[in-house]
Amino acid sequence: MQIIDISIEIFENMPTYPGNPNVSFTPVIKRNSQITTISFGTHTGTHIDAPLHTIPSGSPIDAIDLEAFVGPCTVVDFSQKNILSISGPMLEKISLTKNNKVLFKTDNSYSEGEVFTKDYVYIEPSAAEYLAQQKVSLVGIDALSIKKSGDTDNTPHTALLSKNIPILEGINLKAVSEGEYFLVCAPLKLKGLDGAPARAFLIK
Ligand SMILES: [Zn+2]
Repeated sequence: MQIIDISIEIFENMPTYPGNPNVSFTPVIKRNSQITTISFGTHTGTHIDAPLHTIPSGSPIDAIDLEAFVGPCTVVDFSQKNILSISGPMLEKISLTKNNKVLFKTDNSYSEGEVFTKDYVYIEPSAAEYLAQQKVSLVGIDALSIKKSGDTDNTPHTALLSKNIPILEGINLKAVSEGEYFLVCAPLKLKGLDGAPARAFLIK
């Protein structure tokens, strides 16, 4: 059995999506024990967007059934194809079955910037709508956001989250080739919140 970690590290002052809180760690000295106060947003690093992120009446992260986060998963490789985004028509030849999870590998997995770069590969509204129609159970992308940086059209989030399809963002798929895997991602059980950092890995 091969386990491939697709999570990115969370570290102080790491790149975050514009408008998100900065990451900081503060040691707390308590006799012989080491404790750290951690401060970061719910959408830091590898994380899950819960429906509540963009749907006011949507489920918070702690209310999502764990089946959404564990199960068969298809990794689709769009890296080294010189594309800026993933559109609906690009997905039509990929065989996706109901309840399947799908992760998109793009050139983002190869850019290891110390700062946020806005020119990441993103998912177009037409692709999110297509994935929702296919009734996949989770969509993942190797970017801190599924939508185009700064775009006012939030369809890439809403098309999926309105159908209770969580989004896994901020993964790195450099070490993963296209194919079928078993996905495990476990967001922190943060009560009533819009998302949570997650440890995510693929089993082959
Ligand atoms: Zn997010």
